[in-house]
Amino acid sequence: PAEAIPPLEVRDVTVRFAGLTALDSVSFTVAPGSVHAVIGPNGAGKSTCFNVLSGVYRATSGSVRFGAAELTALPPHRIAALGMARTFQNIALSPHLSVRDNMMLGRHRLTRAGFLSAGLRLPSARREAARHGERVAEIAAFVGLTGQLATPVGLLPYGVQKRVELARALCMEPKLLMLDEPVAGMNGGERREMAELIIAVRESLGISILLVEHDMGMVMRLADAVTVLDFGKRIADGPPERVQNDPEVIRAYLGA
Ligand code: ADP
Ligand code: MG
Repeated sequence: PAEAIPPLEVRDVTVRFAGLTALDSVSFTVAPGSVHAVIGPNGAGKSTCFNVLSGVYRATSGSVRFGAAELTALPPHRIAALGMARTFQNIALSPHLSVRDNMMLGRHRLTRAGFLSAGLRLPSARREAARHGERVAEIAAFVGLTGQLATPVGLLPYGVQKRVELARALCMEPKLLMLDEPVAGMNGGERREMAELIIAVRESLGISILLVEHDMGMVMRLADAVTVLDFGKRIADGPPERVQNDPEVIRAYLGA
């Protein structure tokens, strides 16, 4: 049985860099099993928000809770171990490694046997490796990468590499999947494919998805709830239809 998905609660999070407030007392909640989008113009603070949630940046103040766990002081690997997997705005895969090996790296946090027993070729380690291999094959089939498992990632088209990133994040068996601009740089066909994949992930795995996205159309199609940032401040929060018609959101997007 799947473990319960906890809510992600972001409360009054502020991030200051020298002379600049990138996030200014931002709050929102990602409800269990929902697709929640954080949107806003360039420089609004979306990636900063992402980096705080995944432990790459430390919040200046405020709190981030995932269920009972307070995340604000935790390093990235501890946050990942709590079931929060992320992708990056720019691809962060190992280009010389195969799709399969990149995905196996995503399972690293789940490896109990460890390097020592693997090095000693203990039967338990071999069984565990086989189990990981099977799961990697399942996830590859789910995202449509079965035919590419042996291909070095660097040789694949950009849109396919983005799918590998998603697959690697899924290999961590997350409770919450965080996607930073998953369709950035993609053409129309690739965008539609990725959107369908995100819908499939949510429907068949039941995990929460936090999406940071610049593309309004994508957000309106996918998200249950939207938080809009502008110059580090939350200017709107709610269901997509309402947020889309919010005068302040329209102003921020038009730059008026
Ligand atoms: P978005 O992802 O919405 O485009 P970012 O979160 O990347 O916006 O950036 C928000 C603001 O914070 C920008 O003004 C950016 O220049 C600044 N910023 C982001 N990261 C850093 C950093 N590591 N050091 C200093 N300023 C930063
Ligand atoms: Mg960004």
